[in-house]
Amino acid sequence: MHGRMMFQPLLISDLLEHAAQYHADTPIYSKNTNGQMYETHWKNIADNAKRGAKAFEALKLGHGDCVATLAWNNHRHLEAWYAISGSGLICHTINPRLFPEQLIFIINDAKDKAILFDKTFLPLINAIKAHIPLVKSFICLDAPDAEIVKALPEVLFYDDLIAAQSAEYTWPEFDENTASSLCYTSGTTGNPKGALYSHRSTVLHSLVASLPDSMNLSAKDIILPVVPMFHVHAWGTPYSAALVGCTVVLPGPGLDGDSLVKLIDDYKVTIALGVPTIWQSLLVAAKQSGTKLESLTRNVIGGSACPPSMLATFRDVYQCETIHAWGMTEASPLGTVNQPKAKHLLLPIEQQHKLRLSQGRPPFGVKLRLVDEENGTNEVAYDGETHGNVQLKGHWIIERYFGKDQSSLTSDGWFDTGDIASLDQDGYLHISDRAKDLIKSGGEWISSVELENIAMGHPEVAMAAAIAATHPKWDERPVLIAVKTPESTLTEEALIQYYNDKIAKWQIPDRVIFVDAIPLSGTGKMLKRKLREDFGDVLLNSAEAI
Ligand code: ADP
Repeated sequence: MHGRMMFQPLLISDLLEHAAQYHADTPIYSKNTNGQMYETHWKNIADNAKRGAKAFEALKLGHGDCVATLAWNNHRHLEAWYAISGSGLICHTINPRLFPEQLIFIINDAKDKAILFDKTFLPLINAIKAHIPLVKSFICLDAPDAEIVKALPEVLFYDDLIAAQSAEYTWPEFDENTASSLCYTSGTTGNPKGALYSHRSTVLHSLVASLPDSMNLSAKDIILPVVPMFHVHAWGTPYSAALVGCTVVLPGPGLDGDSLVKLIDDYKVTIALGVPTIWQSLLVAAKQSGTKLESLTRNVIGGSACPPSMLATFRDVYQCETIHAWGMTEASPLGTVNQPKAKHLLLPIEQQHKLRLSQGRPPFGVKLRLVDEENGTNEVAYDGETHGNVQLKGHWIIERYFGKDQSSLTSDGWFDTGDIASLDQDGYLHISDRAKDLIKSGGEWISSVELENIAMGHPEVAMAAAIAATHPKWDERPVLIAVKTPESTLTEEALIQYYNDKIAKWQIPDRVIFVDAIPLSGTGKMLKRKLREDFGDVLLNSAEAI
């Protein structure tokens, strides 16, 4: 055959090289661990990433070694990321909110050879240091200071390491299937499991995540990834941002509502991404400050179901389009994104609004199927109503966990997500629950997400989690654990009443328990396992149980 196209491996370093060459002066704003803002641009990020790559070589880190990061979203972290993956090392982003035992487990499991960390995590490093013998270099991502040296005498400073190198460096070229980074699931059951991404899977994911029907990113955007870089790579945004060459605002450690509102307004952020709990506190702060968040044209909400009331507030009060997305660590994370089709724009406005509530449809590169619970390979009807287990296939979906010999796929090659959903003919997915969070009352399913969404629609409810409580007659019955807004006088009876006419009577929670705070997981999700431990027995011995 005569004639062919060039072949170039899909490598992460190319994303950065593209940004450095064609978007050199596009700014990157970063909040340092000390709270101060720092301004740089893509060219500097790329030059420092090259210096970093040379510094890692000098530390005798070699192709395929894992290098961990324990850091907030900041510019040094971004540079180091590209330095690690770009040079053929594996970037293991660690969630600092894991328990110390879990941190020790994953660092040893990954055989990390070096750890880059922000000053915030110095006590954590010192607490686990004796248990992670394979880690030879501890590199601090903050400006050198005596206090750090005193606490950790063997510390190296990233700034010193890169200052000792020139930016004369050519990124190595290697097979695009080479591992680039490693991310562990938060391990709500058992030990965390690692998802090992490749250069190819990451670049393809970045391309598709940037499309108009995904996050709709362009060089005109100013993006604020509130979702941490240790939470599935901030949903891939540092890669997509380089690919489109947009401005990035990195929020550092300040993830409270007030700090985020200020960043959005000060830097004219056009798009921001985060889990619902983050947006909840941002909305409170925005209301208090009176800002209209004028620059923010859209936000991406995922990680947990976006409550309808939150989506409506962004739309009606802030003229901000919420893009609801669903994904998971094992899917890099993008599985589906909610963007309408042309035909939907002709629908009455209420129907359009309703459509935007679902988790959306798969982009090119992801295939979805729903199978029934009994027979893991029988597909259910795609009628938007029938529920089934969500399974995935695609270019950036896991095949097996890190360090495992065995495939994690079904016998016919699909990855089971553990989520339960319905799917319609257009591919819109409606997640009803995680399989383990579903409430099974007398053999019938009740979606905890639906109960939470209704509760969140009450103006005096700040946060709500519905859990299955053990019931002697019905096996399980729903109980709602809720946090009231500060001045609320809401009672249990009134909130139960609020469910009337919104769902079938038998689905209404038996009890509402008000608490001061709902425990959150390392990635900002409600820890329902903990709530089940604390409140799973409340219906035993109570009058309702008889
Ligand atoms: P974990 O929470 O276990 O650390 P992930 O961050 O990978 O790991 O979470 C993936 C899970 O989060 C999905 O399987 C799903 O249950 C839930 N999830 C993610 N996005 C959404 C969404 N938009 N709506 C409902 N659930 C979601």
